[in-house]
Amino acid sequence: MNTTNTMSEKRVRVRFAPSPTGGLHMGGVRTALFNYLFAKKHNGDFILRIEDTDQTRYVKGAEDYIIEALKWCGIEPNEGVGFGDGPYAPYRQSERKNTGIYMKYAQKLIEAGGAYYAFDTEEELEEMRKRLEAAKVVSPQYNHITRMNMRNSLTLSHDEVQKLLDSGVPYVIRLKVPRNEEIRFYDIIRGWIVVNSSTIDDKVLLKSDGMPTYHLAHIVDDIEMKITHVIRGEEWLPSAPAHVLTYKYLGLENQMPQLAHLPLILKPDGKGKLSKRDTSGLPMFPLNWHDERTGESYIGYRESGFFPEAFINMLALLGWNPGNNQEILSKEEMIQLFSLEKVHKAGAKFDPEKTKWFNQQYLRKKDKLELAKLLEPILKENNITADLEYTAKVCELMKEKAHFVKEIWEFGKYMFVEPDKYDEKVIQKKWNPDSQKQIQEIKTLLQNIEPFEADNIHHALDNFSKEKGKIDYQLIRTLLTGVSSGPSLVHIMEILGKSKTLKRLETALEKLAVTQN
Ligand code: GLU
Repeated sequence: MNTTNTMSEKRVRVRFAPSPTGGLHMGGVRTALFNYLFAKKHNGDFILRIEDTDQTRYVKGAEDYIIEALKWCGIEPNEGVGFGDGPYAPYRQSERKNTGIYMKYAQKLIEAGGAYYAFDTEEELEEMRKRLEAAKVVSPQYNHITRMNMRNSLTLSHDEVQKLLDSGVPYVIRLKVPRNEEIRFYDIIRGWIVVNSSTIDDKVLLKSDGMPTYHLAHIVDDIEMKITHVIRGEEWLPSAPAHVLTYKYLGLENQMPQLAHLPLILKPDGKGKLSKRDTSGLPMFPLNWHDERTGESYIGYRESGFFPEAFINMLALLGWNPGNNQEILSKEEMIQLFSLEKVHKAGAKFDPEKTKWFNQQYLRKKDKLELAKLLEPILKENNITADLEYTAKVCELMKEKAHFVKEIWEFGKYMFVEPDKYDEKVIQKKWNPDSQKQIQEIKTLLQNIEPFEADNIHHALDNFSKEKGKIDYQLIRTLLTGVSSGPSLVHIMEILGKSKTLKRLETALEKLAVTQN
């Protein structure tokens, strides 16, 4: 089987189908991203379907969160909840249920002998579990063996079944998984997979409240929405054989989308699946998330100062690479280079340092005015008003070392506020009457530089150093900025301007003279 064959026949249609059971975490965003890249690469459609059939796990706000997160990441579906209805609306399963579509397919499965009614009560199911546990069955299941001792349309007579249905006794519809059959299917990432049907349970397809389970609902919707490829997390791989069987029973094997199960995202040490508790201080969620049920709040990548481009670039390389060692990829480049065949099946380790590195790379690429505009709100929070052009120059100067815009403020605060103290260690080691005299001379020297630009300052200081004795640049830096290291000193002087530079040196002389006396 080959992805390109089918693609030439059908328009590619993929879906991201989250359940609104909590905040969408970064693993979910990566699934959405791979679907998006694949769709765009093949000029296809990318759909957002909300799988909300499990009302007990429904979390208020989760759906809006998913929509906002996808928007922030720039991976917007062209059809689906929150993004405009396409030809297959509604896109929320709870609303689709009212059209009777799931029941229709469930009935078809029963007629085809691929599913059956089960009338067992909770107590009866519990009894079965206990019985199997007592018999030391490792994983007690409702399956080809145990179903024969239960109350279902395989063990009851036709009349009995009809009577129960007519009298409104609650029932579920289960998939009838055969004994000892080979189920084979192809996964674009993993190749051929063969599973013996005896290991699979008779999954519930339709619940007693009339709601379909995920297993039935997603199949029905994928068929109805003409989905060509199902790209989803590895955790769904164990259910895939049951899905393959369902298509077979429906007689729609040839309409089954191609499958691609994405690798797990692993903890930084590679030991197990990444969880909210193992991200080494980085967020798990794209945006701030507050879980109303537990009262817990989580910070998002957005609020931590990550650029969406950096975030998705990092995510794209968790399990995929373009095959050319390129790490910084624009969305357009990712689209061009993306292929499911290049997705690895081994788990991908989350790397917090690398994640910050990505943000740094994107920060460095940003234009100084753009950075200045991003820095402005942070300055405002700190009661600083500065001219945008001045801020832009500071951004240009500081951006090399910063991973985040807020670090431009943290590292470069002294470009906006005069220092009120000087690095103790430097002063203790270097401040003496000679240095005081030298600073006075340097002040005079600086006074005469025109225009007051980095190159000129550099030459003047250099000459001074050669003719009149070595300049202690670290000391001057400390007097000007309060700290002992930072970007190019002469550029700091140029940006501060002559009068501020001189004034700061003057203030330092005064303050240090006072402390010395
Ligand atoms: N609703 C499922 C989930 O939340 C979707 C799985 C699929 O893509 O088929 O993971």
